[in-house]
Amino acid sequence: MGKFTIVARPDELSGRLEKQVQNVLEKHDFIRDDASPETVIVIGGDGTFIYAVHQFIDRLKDVRFFGLHTGTLGFYSDYQDCEVDEFLDVLIQHTGTEELLGVLRAEVDGKRYYGLNEIRVENAARTQVMDVFVNGVQLETFRGTGMCVCTQLGSTAYNRSLGGAVIQEGLDLIEMAEIAGIHHSKYRSLDAPFVLKKDSVIRFTAESFRGALLGVDSDVYSLEGAKNIEIKICQARQIRVLHGKKVSYFDRLKDLY
Ligand code: NAP
Ligand code: MN
Repeated sequence: MGKFTIVARPDELSGRLEKQVQNVLEKHDFIRDDASPETVIVIGGDGTFIYAVHQFIDRLKDVRFFGLHTGTLGFYSDYQDCEVDEFLDVLIQHTGTEELLGVLRAEVDGKRYYGLNEIRVENAARTQVMDVFVNGVQLETFRGTGMCVCTQLGSTAYNRSLGGAVIQEGLDLIEMAEIAGIHHSKYRSLDAPFVLKKDSVIRFTAESFRGALLGVDSDVYSLEGAKNIEIKICQARQIRVLHGKKVSYFDRLKDLY
């Protein structure tokens, strides 16, 4: 029968639900297998979902994710804690359908990083000067704190705080937004969020990325010594997400603010 694991946010409600979910599933002959699960049950928020996916980022073909949101609605889960019975029925009755989500891939001098929400270049230490290329064409020389490249699902996260547009579900696009760009008589860059086709390739190059970090969802990596950063939607990796019902995108959005 089905092998599952549970990734739960460390709070009281999520912990209680983890025990309940495990008990019910084991009564129905499911087996908890943290090492090689088929289903990763995520109990918590969107942040927890992203954390869980990163735990399996090199094994995305082998697992599917199923989210139970504790608190508000969220973008990565269809069920709230008050709907746990309905949530469990999807697994027990095998009524769910799978959706594939794309991930962003950054390649920095041969090393690869994967992001669900966004990938950022951020320099809080000094003005980052970098050339921005889209599909091999030089768009601009950017000066400022950095750039945020997000997915449709990530458009409501960091991107939204930057004044980026919220992208409706079903629109498979990527968006690039400036982080505190400097604009005056000597320097200028687009200074507006840019929505791009899903197969666009974005490249940042700089004389130096000293002091800059590569932000990948909730993780950061030093860009010390890096020269070239390429970001695009990864063809080889997709996230399998289980859905049991249709939740209105507008209800999710209304729950956000
Ligand atoms: P986190 O506490 O896990 O997340 C920060 C907040 O962002 C939480 O309230 C989380 O919702 C929400 N969130 C995550 N993904 C979202 C999405 N796709 N749409 C709408 N809201 C979303 O913090 P973290 O672990 O450091 O970072 C995870 C993500 O948080 C990052 O990918 C980034 O986009 C976002 N973040 C935003 C800012 C900002 O806006 N200034 C700063 C840092 C990080 P839940 O409560 O449901 O988990
Ligand atoms: Mn969170």
